[in-house]
Amino acid sequence: MLKDKDRIFTNLYGQAGVDLASSKKRGIWDKTASLVKKGRATIVEEIKASGLRGRGGAGFPTGLKWSFMPEHSTLPSYLVVNADESEPGTCKDRDMIRFDPHRLLEGCLLSAAGMGAHHVYIYIRGEFVREAEVLQSAIEEAYAAGLLGKNAAKSGYDLDLYLHRGAGAYICGEETALLESLEGKKGQPRLKPPFPATCGLYGCPTTVNNVETIAVVPTILRRGAAWFSSFGRDKNHGTKVFCISGHVNKPCTVEESMSIPLKDLIEQHAGGVRGGWQNLLAVIPGGSSVPLIPRTLCETALMDYSSLQELNSGLGTGGVIVMDRSTDIVRAIARIAHFYKHESCGQCTPCREGTGWMWRVLERMAEGRAEVAEIELLLQVSKQVEGHTICALGDAAAWPIQGLIRHFRGEIVKRIEGRRLAEQPPIAAQ
Ligand code: SF4
Repeated sequence: MLKDKDRIFTNLYGQAGVDLASSKKRGIWDKTASLVKKGRATIVEEIKASGLRGRGGAGFPTGLKWSFMPEHSTLPSYLVVNADESEPGTCKDRDMIRFDPHRLLEGCLLSAAGMGAHHVYIYIRGEFVREAEVLQSAIEEAYAAGLLGKNAAKSGYDLDLYLHRGAGAYICGEETALLESLEGKKGQPRLKPPFPATCGLYGCPTTVNNVETIAVVPTILRRGAAWFSSFGRDKNHGTKVFCISGHVNKPCTVEESMSIPLKDLIEQHAGGVRGGWQNLLAVIPGGSSVPLIPRTLCETALMDYSSLQELNSGLGTGGVIVMDRSTDIVRAIARIAHFYKHESCGQCTPCREGTGWMWRVLERMAEGRAEVAEIELLLQVSKQVEGHTICALGDAAAWPIQGLIRHFRGEIVKRIEGRRLAEQPPIAAQ
């Protein structure tokens, strides 16, 4: 279990104050100027050496992403923080913002210095009303104390930071849709390339990073890359904030070492599965868009990118959704399919048409009103959606369905055959 002294998010449960004075007591904004003065190249190298990978779901190496920002550009550069946390089962960024906003703000200054950006936008989902209030008041406090603005934190670096509230579309969590929305347009993903580092916000070099990714930067720079990379396995370094929800005794958000066994995470932090481990049916380990894994695989799964990829699933956002044996697993996945159908922006045909089609078939399958041959057809259609769309929402819609068929095909067949038997006319008495 991660020791308290190694926790980055020391106010994840809000026991201490969120104001500047309380934040400083937790070590935030401590000698920030000296960290900024390390210079752009050193900051990027340190983040690369730490092994930090983006915590928003894709897991792209953070230092490498920053290094794509041009060094000599006539255009302004932007850092955009993605606080549009909308993935079902995920509620970590929300707690970081409402209980530790200054940690994020300090991270913004240091990360911006690492990529040569003098303007930061934090894009927060519209439903996070109280969180936006907390963050806005922290921004005002930081400006008043000289920690943001000209010569931020007396570092010689100028940084302006703006908070922008979204309007509640899931797709605006996709980085290019977020940029479109920030520009005041309809939140629809852009075709890539060009990537944001070349042509992002207002056509200028831009990096979009998740809240957690940015919030851990100050601690990495203070305690060193070697300290951060001492947690987890090769290519899966650092600590990670997980959210555990569903059929557990104590749903929670917790910071743990990367690569912690899934079973330990559930039993040590979430009070175990309701009714005991044997009552577990399946777990969605990384937010609703990754494929579920059944109990047998949960026994050995580690909570990191590599282990979950080997199990044909993913770490995603670290939102762990636990389902016990009372779950109607076909209906649960049908509900997720409905969510993606609803959130599709409609630009590409496989996503616009496919998500609705897959949801309707799953709804029938949940009631047994289908043919056995349709299971294979559904799988094939999901593969024609996956990887054939502008953004990853197509994949996100396809993967949970593929996971269901991979591990619970028998359950779907049982329903179809059960219904057929029930609907057969009784055999006439001889
Ligand atoms: Fe829009 Fe779906 Fe295409 Fe993404 S995959 S751009 S959400 S239609």
